Amino acid sequence: METSKQQGTINVTSENIFPIIKKFLYSDHEIFLRELISNAVDATQKLKTLASVGDFTGELGDLTIRVILDKKKKTLTVSDRGVGMTAKEIDKYINEIAFSGAEEFMKKYKKDANAIIGHFGLGFYSSFMVSDKVEIITKSHKKGKAVSWSCKGNPEYTLEEIDREDRGTDIILHIDKESSEFLEESRIQALLNKYSRFLPVPIAFGKEQEWKDGKYIDTGKDKIINNTEPAWTKKPADLTDEDYTKFYKELYPMSEDPLFHIHLNVDYPFNLTGILYFPKIRNNYEVQKNKIQLYSNQVYVTDSVEGIVPDFLTLLHGVLDSPDIPLNVSRSYLQSDQNVKKISSHITKKVADRLNEIFTNSREQFEQKWDDLKLFINYGMLTEEKFWDKAKEFALLKNTDGKYFTYDEYKEIIKGNQTDKNGTLVYLYANDKDEQFSFIRAAKEKGYDVLIMDGQFDTHFLNHLEEKLEKSHFVRVDSDVVDKLIAKADAKDSKLDKTLESWLNPVFKSQVPAEGYFVTFEALDDNAHPVIITQSEWSRRMKEMSKLSGGMNFYKDLPDSFNLVINSNHPIVLHLAEQLKEVHGKEASGFDEEIVKIKADQESLKKLLKDKKEDEIAQEEKDKRSELEKQVEETEKQRNEILAAFGKENPVVKQLIDLALLATNRLTGEALDAFVQRSIGLLSNDN
Ligand code: ADP
Ligand code: MG
Repeated sequence: METSKQQGTINVTSENIFPIIKKFLYSDHEIFLRELISNAVDATQKLKTLASVGDFTGELGDLTIRVILDKKKKTLTVSDRGVGMTAKEIDKYINEIAFSGAEEFMKKYKKDANAIIGHFGLGFYSSFMVSDKVEIITKSHKKGKAVSWSCKGNPEYTLEEIDREDRGTDIILHIDKESSEFLEESRIQALLNKYSRFLPVPIAFGKEQEWKDGKYIDTGKDKIINNTEPAWTKKPADLTDEDYTKFYKELYPMSEDPLFHIHLNVDYPFNLTGILYFPKIRNNYEVQKNKIQLYSNQVYVTDSVEGIVPDFLTLLHGVLDSPDIPLNVSRSYLQSDQNVKKISSHITKKVADRLNEIFTNSREQFEQKWDDLKLFINYGMLTEEKFWDKAKEFALLKNTDGKYFTYDEYKEIIKGNQTDKNGTLVYLYANDKDEQFSFIRAAKEKGYDVLIMDGQFDTHFLNHLEEKLEKSHFVRVDSDVVDKLIAKADAKDSKLDKTLESWLNPVFKSQVPAEGYFVTFEALDDNAHPVIITQSEWSRRMKEMSKLSGGMNFYKDLPDSFNLVINSNHPIVLHLAEQLKEVHGKEASGFDEEIVKIKADQESLKKLLKDKKEDEIAQEEKDKRSELEKQVEETEKQRNEILAAFGKENPVVKQLIDLALLATNRLTGEALDAFVQRSIGLLSNDN
């Protein structure tokens, strides 16, 4: 550079660069500050490196980077004491923007500021998004004069030598009208907090304040806004548990203490540091997502890691820092980046290893925290095959007594008693210990173990377990009577004869609380409940799953259906049958005999018409046929009316049904009140 003053045109192939920077990149204007500050940090770090290898022998001095707001002049200045630039370097790094295929690219990424800026190293030029004029005052650490560069947001610039003592660079932005928000101290403070909190060089903005004479006033001391040595940059050996918790609070001031942390420290095949925290996740997992912050050499990149790490890991909190994570690129680019992919699967592995370590070394602690970890671990097992492979060794099942087992341990425990006649292992579970109490008790009395499955994803998860674990089936305790939950070869004999059973059916059917109750009879232990309400595992699970996933509407809209199971061996049921026989036995038998007769007539008619086609049958015969059908129907109806009336009059029937409803927490409101009244009535009669 011979002359002391130079004028020129910034060398870009596209004349449109400035209007594009200004107009099209509006989505993310605020990133200009991150870009300028990270340039200042780079320049400072470079100088430190040069000094450490002896290539710079001058005084380093105070290396604080300063952000200075001047509301009057409408300027925002970022000032550093780093390497600085010579006129030649300005020419090379600022004036000649390396551009190839610019226009094509611009068209494609018009909307994605980050992509353009990152792709072309437009970091510095992003300052034109908010300024109508930008100045660079800089003095290199090398010998030579200071220079001043200035540009008004068009492709023309000026460059001149000036006098300046101090080494380093000031970037002065003359903030334009539309961007006056960036002249607000609070706005800049917020941006610094977002992007610069953990940068490795101290950054000063404003002064520390003190309370004096009833108000806050500035002191002479710079206010440093960043923590230059955040915990993740230190060695794990130098940190205590309190340090980790303290750092967690620095990141998330309002959060509960985390359960565990992992300190990541990888330098091959890529560089990665970071601290991940396991938060307590009980429910509502959507709210808890996306708290991880991504950094590149302590420069903040994003706090939305969705699509970058596996979905279940977004439930973790903390920071990840890798120089291999490109700083200024679009989200889609990040997601497809090979380094990012490797990092992501590495983290999955590390997380699994860490959990395994805690499980192995302090099982008790692991069990204590399982309830808070479960959603995270199960969700990971459900969605990431690789995580399943590792986690199946330490994932736990919890039973209704609050004991925890690994999958292998649990299998050993239930194998003997809970294998059905087909060799399938039956896992019994409850969603609600109170609601399903009587079923849990019945199962336990039979020597079965019952798991508790009360999590948000449990229905999905047990489907997954059935797929993964060999020959196993999950059944909720109330999906059948205890004797049939696990199908064994030996069926019990019934003490109730079939005729009485067929009479009792309409007696109970007439008294069920609503549509959708099917009356069935089972020969159970005589100490099992007389009436039990069950709900089929399959249809209930389908409904739950469709509720969760929003799909499969067919199942969602199906009405609930229940089985009213009558224990045909229970003394009360047998007594009721005897009473029924006494009161209506003759009548009912009469109807039954009549039905038998009509059915015999039906049979002979059927034989007669067997070889005839429908149009060969005479009208007379057709009439006879439908007459007989009607007679059967009519007779059955008459019989059932009498039996239903018995059901209605005999308070025991309703009482038994209500007790079954009560045992499953289904008796409420008016029905509950009626039950109480009836019970009092029954007690008074007895006394
Ligand atoms: P990048 O940082 O990706 O290289 P920038 O557009 O942000 O792209 O900066 C271009 C170049 O200008 C930098 O590489 C550096 O050489 C030079 N530069 C920018 N800011 C400074 C600064 N504060 N001190 C010294 N050099 C700087
Ligand atoms: Mg830069």
